[in-house]
Amino acid sequence: MEYFDSDNFSKDQKLETAFNVVASVRDAFTLAMKQQPPTYEHALKYIEDIDPALYTELVKHLPGKNESEMVTRFKALAKAKGEKPEDLINEEIDEYKLAISSSYDDTTPLKKHLSALRTALEFFKTRELTEHKLLNHDFYISSRNNMKEVPFIGNVNKKDYELPNGNHFRIYLAHPDKIEHVLGADLIYEQYDLKLGLARFAHLQYKTWNGKSLYLTERDEKQLQRLHDNLCGSNCCDVPKVYESSNDYRFPYCSAFLRPTSKLLNLQSKMRSTGDHIPLCKVLKVKASNNILKKDLLAEYAISHNIFEEAFNKYHIGSGWMPIGELEEFYKKRKLFELSDNVRILAQEIIHEFDDEPQF
Ligand SMILES: [Zn+2]
Repeated sequence: MEYFDSDNFSKDQKLETAFNVVASVRDAFTLAMKQQPPTYEHALKYIEDIDPALYTELVKHLPGKNESEMVTRFKALAKAKGEKPEDLINEEIDEYKLAISSSYDDTTPLKKHLSALRTALEFFKTRELTEHKLLNHDFYISSRNNMKEVPFIGNVNKKDYELPNGNHFRIYLAHPDKIEHVLGADLIYEQYDLKLGLARFAHLQYKTWNGKSLYLTERDEKQLQRLHDNLCGSNCCDVPKVYESSNDYRFPYCSAFLRPTSKLLNLQSKMRSTGDHIPLCKVLKVKASNNILKKDLLAEYAISHNIFEEAFNKYHIGSGWMPIGELEEFYKKRKLFELSDNVRILAQEIIHEFDDEPQF
């Protein structure tokens, strides 16, 4: 875990990378679990389940995992009084709200304390959430299902889960053996229909907004270009000929997305991201020559978290279906499982029964 121990990267950069890894795992579980998206806290639990060593490194860099002085004080007070800390905090919040609303003087110190109280309250809410039960992972997706092991290079951990709807979910977390160069996260999400022998996918590349812009380093540029050449540039974003007339009610076929997240200021269960998903075909068109991506220019192409999940699961977004063998060939040809300097997440949803017939 050299990257996370390295002094060459600022605290901010480490936090951004750590958060993007959590965000990508959360996105994977959100797509798989449909209506029951996990929180970021849950996503961290899954990372712990899949790759305990990675988890240990990540939490070191994520804020909000440590108790504040105020949290410790309320815990002790609650114990002494035999009450719930949340109730005690809420009482004090009401008291301060009342004081602020009835005061004619400067209420800045009161407001500061009120905000600290609310943060403390969030801490206890977070703790409740962590009691969420993980999906069942006491089984292994057998190879008779035609699911081949993915030949990732690097340090790979894998886990199989059973989804609430009876489908299966396999998730790989991969990173280079020496990860001092780990600088980001990417997600490949795949859906498999084993009965028809077909698969489809979407690739997401995680970056962090810097205010209203995204500055692309040389490395970022190369990465996006590579993703573009591999997917958009390989006819993946063209309308498949056979389906040209069958379902025109969908987004363009672009299957690569830039997924910028917001800078984290204060975690304390508020690991929220803006949820932007922007098709790569558009990103590269909008990109200014000075390698800055402007949020307002991308806004008209950006799709929120919820819309992405629903549209992907209804086949309106992402690649079209292709024979599983072709997909394997496609990856092999493009060396998609070779070493990268990202933490890479490959999520495979194995669909056993369709609620509706899949649309193409
Ligand atoms: Zn594209």
